[in-house]
Amino acid sequence: MNKHSSSNDILTKLAQQNEDIVLAPLLSSNQESNDNLLVSEHHTQDSRTFYSMFISRMIRFRYPMSLRQSRVCCFEALKSIPVVFILAIVAWSYYAYVVQMCILTIDNVPKKVIYLFIYHPLLFIFLWSYYQTMFKPLMGPPSEFYVGEAEGERIATAQTLDERRTSLLRFCHRGDLPVLTRHFDGSIRYCFLCRCIKPDRAHHCSICGKCILRYDHHCPWTNSCVSYANYKFFILFLGWALVFCTYVAATSLEYFILFWQGITNAHKDVNSSISPGGKFHLLFLFFAAIMFAISVSSLFFYHLYLTGKNRTTLESFRAPIFSNGPQKNGFNIGCKQNFQEIFGKKFLMAIIPIWTTRGDGVHYQVNSLLLGGLQEQQQQQQQQSGNISAYDSGKKMKINLIELFRLPL
Ligand SMILES: [Zn+2]
Ligand SMILES: [Zn+2]
Repeated sequence: MNKHSSSNDILTKLAQQNEDIVLAPLLSSNQESNDNLLVSEHHTQDSRTFYSMFISRMIRFRYPMSLRQSRVCCFEALKSIPVVFILAIVAWSYYAYVVQMCILTIDNVPKKVIYLFIYHPLLFIFLWSYYQTMFKPLMGPPSEFYVGEAEGERIATAQTLDERRTSLLRFCHRGDLPVLTRHFDGSIRYCFLCRCIKPDRAHHCSICGKCILRYDHHCPWTNSCVSYANYKFFILFLGWALVFCTYVAATSLEYFILFWQGITNAHKDVNSSISPGGKFHLLFLFFAAIMFAISVSSLFFYHLYLTGKNRTTLESFRAPIFSNGPQKNGFNIGCKQNFQEIFGKKFLMAIIPIWTTRGDGVHYQVNSLLLGGLQEQQQQQQQQSGNISAYDSGKKMKINLIELFRLPL
């Protein structure tokens, strides 16, 4: 009985220590299978085998293959609904603007040509940004961050926190991994599902099912993770969507007013130039443009603010933790440089949805204040003990800070 309760304690701790929220629902939703595992564990001499089984069962999931596949298909179809909705709105708005407004309603030919001449490049660059955000391949941790099956089992089945912490530190030291951020408990951040050390700013996306570099959030409207690989494209998508919607709203305003004048002064027939069907297209075109412009603008300016501070959405709610504590501005290296990190140095290249983001998604510069604190902490550790033997008997941890904080160009 004691053995069972201690097993539960360790498993619960294990789930709590993993910052991925994925483990918690797995623990609760699988209580029955967990109990079965606990019973079988009673007959097992080696407790490590039990923990390995438990972790493996959690990772492999719990459904028969056919049911699992159908669930995956349904999930994929559901995830596509917001994208289909946006594309349908764009397709309809194209018809409403080009056919109903420009071709059928506007009589002035130069005006018609100018409206269409500006409209199409804006639509093109907006759709190009959207495409890049959706289809730019996500970037996960490099191969050296993955621990392998044996090491993964050892980490997952560690009996104590110190044992696991030591294994993770030793692995990082062996691979000379540039990891500055830590878990709440001070250990190296580790993903039990992917069996990898999480690079700085990387997090596991439970929808994509893998660890993603510089994870910001999972966006249902692009059906993709907003992350290091597509953050510039995502901001451009919002920015160009705002410009596009504002342009459509501004140019359709005149005909929207004509429509309302036609309703309130029906006997004057001031909007006779607009066909009856076209009236409703123009009405909803204006409303849709205004509605999307307002909703997109708040998100766009919020992400500009985050870029200026060099924070991800996740980091704005939960400050990244370094070895000397949480630092909300840990990656803030100055507004101009923060923008250049995402958009590059050339303005014209920055506003076009082509890849100009700096770095590799793994190495990040940190601000001078944090850098000084980390250097001081390292010196203190070396002075106090003369060794950092917790993870490697007698060996000092060799961190070349200049190399560590170097941002690859
Ligand atoms: Zn992961
Ligand atoms: Zn995702």
